[in-house]
Amino acid sequence: MQFSSRERLKHARLAGDRREQYPHSLQFYLEPPTESISLAEFESFAVDRLKLLKVVENLGVSYVRTTDIYKTKLVAELRKLKFPYKALAEDDYEARRKDHISHFILRLAYCQSEDLRRWFLQQEMDLFRYRFNELTESLMQKFLGHVNLSFEAVGEDLKNELVNELSSSTPGFTVTKVKEQMFYKVGLADAVDLFRARRVFIKDGFAYVPFKEIDVIVLNNYRTKLSKALALTARSLPSIQSDERLQPLLKHLSHSYVGPDYSVQKNTGKISLEQIDALSVKSFPLCMRQLHRTLRDSHHLRHGGRMQYGLFLKGIGLTLEQALEFWKKEFIRGKVDADKFDKGYAYSIRHNYGKEGKRTDYTPYSCMKIIMSNPPGQGDYHGCPFRHSDPELLKQKLQSYKIPPSGITQILELVKGMHYQLACQKYFELTHDVDDIGFSLNHPNQYFTESQKLLSGGRELKKELNNSGNFQQKNNSQESINSSSTPTSSNATADTELEGLDAYFTED
Ligand code: SF4
Repeated sequence: MQFSSRERLKHARLAGDRREQYPHSLQFYLEPPTESISLAEFESFAVDRLKLLKVVENLGVSYVRTTDIYKTKLVAELRKLKFPYKALAEDDYEARRKDHISHFILRLAYCQSEDLRRWFLQQEMDLFRYRFNELTESLMQKFLGHVNLSFEAVGEDLKNELVNELSSSTPGFTVTKVKEQMFYKVGLADAVDLFRARRVFIKDGFAYVPFKEIDVIVLNNYRTKLSKALALTARSLPSIQSDERLQPLLKHLSHSYVGPDYSVQKNTGKISLEQIDALSVKSFPLCMRQLHRTLRDSHHLRHGGRMQYGLFLKGIGLTLEQALEFWKKEFIRGKVDADKFDKGYAYSIRHNYGKEGKRTDYTPYSCMKIIMSNPPGQGDYHGCPFRHSDPELLKQKLQSYKIPPSGITQILELVKGMHYQLACQKYFELTHDVDDIGFSLNHPNQYFTESQKLLSGGRELKKELNNSGNFQQKNNSQESINSSSTPTSSNATADTELEGLDAYFTED
C-alpha cells in the first residue's frame, strides 16, 4: 500500500499517539476509557474478557500457577482472544486497547454484588500476577515507575554492608544469594504483608525486599486499588442502570456464560420419555438430577424448579408433546388432577416452547444464571446444589451417589473457594471416570452433551461439533447480549417475559 508523505505523517502521528496512550502491555486500569465504541464492540470485548477470566479461574484450580503448563495454556488463550501476551510487542495497540476497555466493561458488570466482585477480583489478580511475572526486569522497573511504585534499588556497597542481616532476615537467602539478587528499599506501608510474615529485613522505616518478592507488593497495591474501584463503581451503578442500552447488556454479562447456545436443538425428538430416568443418573448435572429425583418422589415441583428443569429438558431434545406428557403423567400421580393440569400447568409448558403469550422460544438456563439469580427458598429444589446447598447436605448427597471420599473432599474444597462450576466439573470427572474433562463447564445442557459424547465413545462428536457452531456471539437469539445498535435487547425482552411468566405459575 502506498502512502503520500502527508498520509505517512498522519500515520506516524497516529502510531505515536497510540503508543503514548498505552505505554505498557500491563496496567492498573486507573483511567477509564473515554472513546466511543459501538455496542457490537462493547459486547464482543466483554464476552472475550469473560472467556479469558473463566480460563484463568479454571487453570488456577487445575495447575500450580508457576508451572509451564499453566503458563502455556494461559498464553494460548491470550493469543487466541487477541489480548496482549508479549510484553515487548510494539504493535499491539489493538490488544492493549481491548484489554483496557474490556476490563472496565466487566468492572461495571461485576461490581453489582459481593459474590461477583470477589470472583472478578480474584481472576483479575491472577491474570495480573501472570503478566507481571512475565515482564523482563527492565520492563518491570518501567512499569513500576509508571504506576508510581518505583522503589529505590539497594546499592552494592550498602548491600555488602548489610549482607548478613539480609541473609538472616530473608527466608531462603544465603549470603551468596543475597549478593546475586537485587534488593529494594520499600516503605513499610507498602510491605505490610512481608513485614508481618517476617520475610524481610527492616531498617530505618524501610523494608529491604528482594526482587522476587516485589510482585507481592505490586499485587497488594493492585488489589487495594481494584477493590476500592469496584466499590466506587457499585455506588455509581444506579445512574448507569438508568441507561436503557447499557442496563440489559450489563445484567446479562454478569449472568452470562460463554459457550454454545442451547436454544437451537438439532436433537429434538431424539430422546424418549422412558430414557429420562437412566439419563438423569448418567448424564444429568447434579442440579437437574436433584430436580428429577424430587419430581419423581413428590410428583410436583414448584415454579423455579419447573422453569429450570423444563427448559433443560427442552434443551436436551424433548418436544412440546413429550414435555406435556412427561409433566402431566408425573403431576397427576400427586395432588393435581388432569383437568387442573390442563388448565393450570399446560399453558406454561406451551409458553416455554414459544406457543403461547409473546411466543418467545425460551433458552435453557446457563450455570451463571442458575447460580446468580433467584436463589431457592424453603421447599424449592431449583438452583445449583454446589452454590445453594448446605455443605453437609451436599456431602451426604454425594456420598449417596457413591462419590469416593477423596473426591468429595476435593469438591467441598472447591465449593468453599466458591468455584461452583469447577466443583461441578470435578463431579463430572468422578462420575465419568476421566482425569480431565477438557472443557470449561458453563451450562447444564453442555454437561449433558459432553457426557453423552463421552459415553457414546465420541460417536456424537461430529454432530455435536456441528451443533456447537452456534456460539453465543454468532447466535444471540436470547441468552446472550444483543449486539445490534438498537437500544432494546432481546435478552432484556426475554427476561421481562420470563418474569412475566410468574403470573402463569400462581400454583406452586
Ligand atoms: Fe448445574 Fe451448573 Fe451448578 Fe453444575 S454448576 S450443578 S450444571 S448449575
